[in-house]
Amino acid sequence: MSEDGVGDDVDDGESAASRIANTGHDEWLDALAASEGYAMACPNGHASLPPRRVCPECGSSELSEEPLPSTGTLRTFTVVHVGSPAFAADVPYVTAIAEFGPLRLTGLLRDVEPIDEEIPIGLSVEATVETRENGSRTVAFHPVDVP
Ligand SMILES: [Zn+2]
Repeated sequence: MSEDGVGDDVDDGESAASRIANTGHDEWLDALAASEGYAMACPNGHASLPPRRVCPECGSSELSEEPLPSTGTLRTFTVVHVGSPAFAADVPYVTAIAEFGPLRLTGLLRDVEPIDEEIPIGLSVEATVETRENGSRTVAFHPVDVP
């Protein structure tokens, strides 16, 4: 065996990977904004958001990008009446968790009355990206009618 190839230097690979990891979330938001959202899926059926190099559930490093379903299902939500200073102008607002296939996303739920009784669990939503006044971006959900 003549394995004198030392091309896969682990240290260089690590630093390159962490640079990618640091920009991963912005790129993911770009993709979501373009209706091309995806999840990092492992062979065991777990899904997570970038930046990831290993599955947070089982540690698998065999992650692949899987397209998100176009609609998700509202699983839980919280009507927020007292915001942090950054959100103070927005209250009341709704934070929610929706499932897009195996992926659970957290975001703001828009286009609903911010009243507990008015928001049905199981609501179909689509995910978009909202840009806040300070320039930061966040996931936002909007109800959709499913035919
Ligand atoms: Zn996994």
